[in-house]
Amino acid sequence: MKIAILGAAGRMGQNLLRCAKKMDGCEIVAAVERAGHPLIGEPVPERKGLCYTTDWPKDAEAVIDFTFHECVTSNLANAVANKQAVVLGTTGLADGEKQCVADAATKVPVVWAANMSLGVNLLLELVKRTAAVLGQDYDVEITEAHHRLKKDAPSGTALSLAEAAVAGRDVALSDVACYGRAGIVGERPTGEIGIHAVRGGAIVGEHTVAFIADEETVEITHKAATREAFATGALRAALWLGGRGPGLYTMRHVLGFVE
Ligand code: NAD
Repeated sequence: MKIAILGAAGRMGQNLLRCAKKMDGCEIVAAVERAGHPLIGEPVPERKGLCYTTDWPKDAEAVIDFTFHECVTSNLANAVANKQAVVLGTTGLADGEKQCVADAATKVPVVWAANMSLGVNLLLELVKRTAAVLGQDYDVEITEAHHRLKKDAPSGTALSLAEAAVAGRDVALSDVACYGRAGIVGERPTGEIGIHAVRGGAIVGEHTVAFIADEETVEITHKAATREAFATGALRAALWLGGRGPGLYTMRHVLGFVE
């Protein structure tokens, strides 16, 4: 599979370049960066003949986007114009940008996941089942922690976990979500889902979902040790897209949790 990395000089981009070397079937054909990035024109280390570029990688079969939400729309338009599969890992998308993802997926195959790690996608499955089994008597509180440079909050993964928790309850997340608490907030309403963001140091990504009842607490936690957890999943997603038709897929499809 000929793969281009968008955001190649970034934290995730560097991990993708490193992981692709270890994964059979992944051929990196382009390392794309934004105009004005200091590495444009510089060689990509340990990649003979590859330089960081702003050119759209027309020869790629799939593009992996870990950039910034504001450039996702134009990246998708380019991928559609060139009939390329897309793995979209960038988070913090505005509603209009999310609509662009859905529109693009009617024309090319797109894997879109706020967290590409195998462990987190297993966590999503466990949270959904736990919420359904335990019911409303267990208060759900989600805590996420990330490095101090992360730009969006709460994390896309925390939002996905909240969506997984409400999935079995027949309610909309917007009706029950509580993003942090301060001041005289009153008693906790039944069914509320608390979502809290911690920022500091170099934490790669930690998520805990607590189901809290009067008599017991169940906690499900995932901790990413390195960004390779996400990079490996993103490359697996790109390989999975080979030969697939248009559609909007998640890591649950890639990992075989759903057909
Ligand atoms: P980063 O800031 O280190 O890297 C982003 C890179 O994208 C930068 O090098 C920047 O110059 C580049 N860029 C910006 N605009 C561009 C454009 N138009 N074309 C090409 N490159 C462009 O950020 P990061 O930590 O690598 O994270 C990137 C995104 O991925 C964030 O939204 C983050 O939340 C998300 N993320 C998702 C997952 C996941 O599993 N889905 C995991 C980690 C991070």
